[in-house]
Amino acid sequence: MNYYVLTLFPEMIENGMNTSITGRAIAGGSLSLETVNIRDYSLSGNGRIDDYPYGGGAGMVMQAEPICRAYEDLVRRLGKQPRVVYLTPQGRVFDQHMAEELAREEELIFLCGHYEGVDERVIEEIVTDQVSIGDYVLTGGELPAMVMMDAIARMVPGVLSNQESGQYESFQDGLLEYPQYSRPEEWRGKQVPPVLLSGHHGNVDRWRRDQSLLRTLKNRPELLTSVELDKKDRKFLQSLLDGGEMMNDTDVSDCTLGGGLTEEEEKFLAKLLAI
Ligand code: SAM
Repeated sequence: MNYYVLTLFPEMIENGMNTSITGRAIAGGSLSLETVNIRDYSLSGNGRIDDYPYGGGAGMVMQAEPICRAYEDLVRRLGKQPRVVYLTPQGRVFDQHMAEELAREEELIFLCGHYEGVDERVIEEIVTDQVSIGDYVLTGGELPAMVMMDAIARMVPGVLSNQESGQYESFQDGLLEYPQYSRPEEWRGKQVPPVLLSGHHGNVDRWRRDQSLLRTLKNRPELLTSVELDKKDRKFLQSLLDGGEMMNDTDVSDCTLGGGLTEEEEKFLAKLLAI
């Protein structure tokens, strides 16, 4: 995967991306990163790339021409026109599915806005995808670009070592991941759930699935509506509704987010299980 980033702050992207796992992947060649400083394509001698918005209003707008010149210079050198992702709070919200889809590309160009954003006409001219990382406004597109590059990189072969490439991650099957524990068995009076020490893989797998269901119900219930629930999943969820003691041979007290359901969660679950 080759990343190209059009930005006013290349050092921010380079410092972030050349660190930790992505840094190792860049050094090892599974990823490449090139930043292009839009300021180098300024029309004026003093490096100015922004101007006042037509129609008035606060802030400055990044001008179309320096961005377009930076882009055209890049695609001329590349000899191809990769997809261009403009980071914007007005875009489609980034998620794991989008990361998986973008990871199939060989090259990606990211355009980072700043100030009040970029002149609309350059978006029309060069951008193929407008992407937001969430419903809040940041000062620039550099952090969102890094968020996207990091999530996409995890799906590029060779980026994660065997140890790092988890068998299971949140969102992989539409659910949030189960809780994780490491040594020691007891920490500040808190015990690791006994089933994880049992050595019984079937019970461990079931416990993890139940915990994923419970955690998703508690934190992101809307995700459950798109998950295919099998008989055991339903049995577990029903046991939560019934306030029962056993579910799939796992003691309810093992549920780290237990403590009963709220009225709202009960209503949601009853509706879900009625389908
Ligand atoms: N005036 C713009 C608006 O209301 O849509 C916001 C501009 S924001 C202050 C400056 C730049 O930060 C944007 O051009 C974009 O590149 C980036 N940005 C801010 N929030 C973002 C988000 N949630 N997702 C992706 N990019 C974001």
